[in-house]
Amino acid sequence: MNSDVLVVGSANADLVVAVDRRPGGGETVLGGDTVLSPGGKGANTAVAAGRLGADVALLGAVGDDVYGRLLLDSLRAAGVDTGLVRTSDRPTGIAYITVTPDGENSILVSPGANSSLEPADVDAVFDGVQVMVASLEVPLPAVEHAVAKAAEKGVKVLLNLSPAAELSAETLAKLDVLLVNEHEAAWLAGPGADFRKLLDLGPRSAVVTLGAAGAVVVEAGKVTEVASPKVEAVDSTGAGDAFAGALAASLADGADLVSAAKHAVRVAAFSVTRHGAQPSYPSVADLSYGLD
Ligand code: ADP
Repeated sequence: MNSDVLVVGSANADLVVAVDRRPGGGETVLGGDTVLSPGGKGANTAVAAGRLGADVALLGAVGDDVYGRLLLDSLRAAGVDTGLVRTSDRPTGIAYITVTPDGENSILVSPGANSSLEPADVDAVFDGVQVMVASLEVPLPAVEHAVAKAAEKGVKVLLNLSPAAELSAETLAKLDVLLVNEHEAAWLAGPGADFRKLLDLGPRSAVVTLGAAGAVVVEAGKVTEVASPKVEAVDSTGAGDAFAGALAASLADGADLVSAAKHAVRVAAFSVTRHGAQPSYPSVADLSYGLD
């Protein structure tokens, strides 16, 4: 028996260093202490759903190393089933993140084990799954195959098009929900375009996240704006992944898309009030008194 929510995606160790400025070519710059935390879009999404009490599994790959063990521990602590996280002979994926005093991040990702995901890994994993949510820090052939297999099994298919990548028209047409942020929406439909145009690409519905402004849900013949609670934002790392995990958890619970998006903006807004990605994600109890 599989979990209600299956997340297909990456697991990375985030290595974060504060710097006054980034080094140029051939230059050495001293930064602050390294902060190590579990991350990667797939693992973040799974942890967000798990912390909310969803029955969730991650399908992905880590290396046989200290970072892989850190990621598995974090997933399990959030109640995520890790039975489909393969140990690869490649090293665990690492995101090298520098943060300058103006708060700007720059990120170099070494995908490592994440690159080893293959279509065969996602062939026979959908029995009993209600909702699959995939993101794109893992190889596209594995994601496209997962979308096709999930759709064939009648599983609700969410795709978080992050980082943005070209998908085949066939894959787009199999999506129940295309989830994008404002930049990804502009990349897909053109800058300033009406979000309804996203449905012309094939998905049955789309959700566009708009940072502090919340989100927009686009369904056939209907556009619904979902406002975010007002919060004191300290760190928006992983907010989009929190949104994806909460949306998937709600849909698996039987919520309609607008209700699920209302829940997801609350979860994502809570996450920006704390530092880090996974450490910032709320439980249901946190939500009940953590926001207005
Ligand atoms: P991404 O992190 O993928 O770029 P967004 O910036 O759109 O995506 O953020 C995702 C979600 O996180 C938003 O829809 C919103 O619910 C929440 N969020 C992000 N920034 C803020 C903020 N400053 N205040 C409240 N909610 C926020």
